[in-house]
Amino acid sequence: MPEILDLARNQVLDRGVGLDEAGVLAVLRLPDEHISDALQLAHEVRMRWCGPEVEVEGIVSLKTGGCPEDCHFCSQSGLFTSPVRSVWLDIPSLVEAAKQTAATGATEFCIVAAVRGPDERLMKQMREGVAAIKAAVDIQVAASLGMLSQAQVDELVEMGVHRYNHNLETCRSYFSNVVTTHTWEERWDTLRMVRDSGMEVCCGGILGLGESIEQRAEFAAQLAALDPHEVPLNFLNPRPGTPLGDRPVVDGKDALRAIAAFRLAMPRTILRYAGGREITLGDLGTRDGLLGGINAVIVGNYLTTLGRPAGEDLALLDELKMPVKALSSTL
Ligand code: SF4
Repeated sequence: MPEILDLARNQVLDRGVGLDEAGVLAVLRLPDEHISDALQLAHEVRMRWCGPEVEVEGIVSLKTGGCPEDCHFCSQSGLFTSPVRSVWLDIPSLVEAAKQTAATGATEFCIVAAVRGPDERLMKQMREGVAAIKAAVDIQVAASLGMLSQAQVDELVEMGVHRYNHNLETCRSYFSNVVTTHTWEERWDTLRMVRDSGMEVCCGGILGLGESIEQRAEFAAQLAALDPHEVPLNFLNPRPGTPLGDRPVVDGKDALRAIAAFRLAMPRTILRYAGGREITLGDLGTRDGLLGGINAVIVGNYLTTLGRPAGEDLALLDELKMPVKALSSTL
């Protein structure tokens, strides 16, 4: 067994202390024949420190497309030629989406808007939308609305939004290659305010943006330092018309190494498969990930690309004997 996995067994599995940057890098560099050992260990870590439950979440886009920022992977930027148009959802449709999400057994419903940060119109929509959802559906409401001011953080807490998603996307040293309209530090500031407010922090990123393996390890260490409640792990799904539209997808084996490595860096976090898993790993990847440290999934569609049907994921959880986390245990 490679030395790093022995060390991880002792440190992460037995003591619950995540791997540091050097340790993560060693996992990301494991030879192919040890990937399954790393996934097995990551699975044991997840079972020991998080338990068997899987968190199921649905997302809806309140405002799609037309974003003024230039994140090079994103088809919702208004600065590229990608075909996603600017569209707003009305409140009845928002409530309907929350109902459909709850009907799948999901406990989390995340409202997302493609913006740099919320303006007064968006905050008003949120106020009305969250109140309407809470009156009609028994589900936790999360939000992802870009960078926030302290007053907006306070307002979201008041509305009853219990978790806020804001991804760092990639490590600090690579960020300016991917985004030029704002900085990694600006994102970090929002995350700090959210964490201090008592809302749960959901923060992850995308692998396969052109970062090196060392930078992947740097990113895992930076996320671990933030200690988010949940980490959505995306793999680049190159979108036509974006600056990264021609990038190759992450090699499946590298994706599995990353899943194991991120779990070993953060033994207690909810590690969620988000976009890109279908093209990087195929159907099998969902199973490998869930047996390799992943403990949350998004059901149904992602924001601008189609995901697997909810029923397939839920049937897989049933087959793997992983219970869907119940709403009562999250309240
Ligand atoms: S801020 Fe969000 S919606 Fe806007 S371009 Fe970046 S990733 Fe896309």
